[in-house]
Amino acid sequence: MKAMERPIREALSRLVAKPVQWDCPLSGYTSFAIGGPAQALISVEDNRELLAVLDCINANGLQWRIIGKGTNLLAADAGFAGVILMLGQGFKDIHRCDERSGGAVTVAAGGGCGLTRLSGWCIDQGLSGLEFAYGIPGTVGGAVVMNAGAWGEELAEVLSAVTVVTQQGLRRIQRQQMHFSYRCWRDHQDQGCAQIVVGIEVRLVPADPDAVRKRCSELLQKRSDRQPKGLPNAGSFFKNPGDNSAGRLIEKSGCKGMRVGGAMVSPVHANFFVNTGGAKAADVMELMGRVQKKVQQECGVLLEPEVHFI
Ligand SMILES: Cc1cc2nc3c(=O)[nH]c(=O)nc-3n(C[C@H](O)[C@H](O)[C@H](O)COP(=O)(O)OP(=O)(O)OC[C@H]3O[C@@H](n4cnc5c(N)ncnc54)[C@H](O)[C@@H]3O)c2cc1C
Repeated sequence: MKAMERPIREALSRLVAKPVQWDCPLSGYTSFAIGGPAQALISVEDNRELLAVLDCINANGLQWRIIGKGTNLLAADAGFAGVILMLGQGFKDIHRCDERSGGAVTVAAGGGCGLTRLSGWCIDQGLSGLEFAYGIPGTVGGAVVMNAGAWGEELAEVLSAVTVVTQQGLRRIQRQQMHFSYRCWRDHQDQGCAQIVVGIEVRLVPADPDAVRKRCSELLQKRSDRQPKGLPNAGSFFKNPGDNSAGRLIEKSGCKGMRVGGAMVSPVHANFFVNTGGAKAADVMELMGRVQKKVQQECGVLLEPEVHFI
């Protein structure tokens, strides 16, 4: 891939405090440990930096994409011809808001805050509602876009508002104006993923901290019993179709342990693809196609990826 032109590099570098990483392999920023170089990887510290970088991107007609912890991403072997944005330390704050409604407490977190960190913080404060999220490894920004969930619960149920940055500026969106479906914030997708979630607010209820903590550790144990350990992956690869389990259909179709290059359908949990070492995005894509074909032949269901692609 061609390096970014020097005047554009210089302009971008001037806008942010943290050094820009040029030609930066995305394999270091995805839980799959897969992905070629991004022309630029920029970590922004506040909304002012973010808006300035978006202006520069716009003025120079560059492509961009925001990533969180890269735990739901497959990045191409060829890399990304443009700017990958990340939310830095300035987007990791958590605090209680004054606003109270019907006994519920509102907690605000920056878009770059870890979802499990937020869930843990709420547990320590004796607030219930985010226990399901304990153990989900992404950021809260990524979790809004994915409508992350587990054990029959999802973020959309406790979310009360988000703050987004677009090329037009900062905007707070109330939950009532947002439309979610299973593992998807639909409006975001419909608008070409051009909104960056810089903050979220969740509404939780006071509860006995010991009871909340106990529920979390039970769920964490369940997670650890069911998921593969030690090999890079991106969580569930496919969405569950309707009431069915993608993992069960993949297993039923005889795909557990199927391999392409370094990519393998996990023998522990069939909906997890694992990188057994040196897997390429092309291996994962080929494996995805083979599994989809086999499941369609055996069960008549076309599985839709949950993982996002860069
Ligand atoms: C071991 C493991 C277990 C997992 N378990 C679960 C689970 O139980 N439930 C579940 O739902 N998911 C699970 N996941 C998937 C993943 O953790 C979640 O989808 C998570 O919410 C993704 O957050 P992220 O910050 O890593 O997003 P990324 O993977 O970085 O990005 C995902 C998408 O969100 C976009 N995005 C990221 N940040 C922002 C932002 N601030 N603003 C706008 N767009 C943004 C990206 O462009 C991309 O399209 C698991 C993953 C792993 C590896």
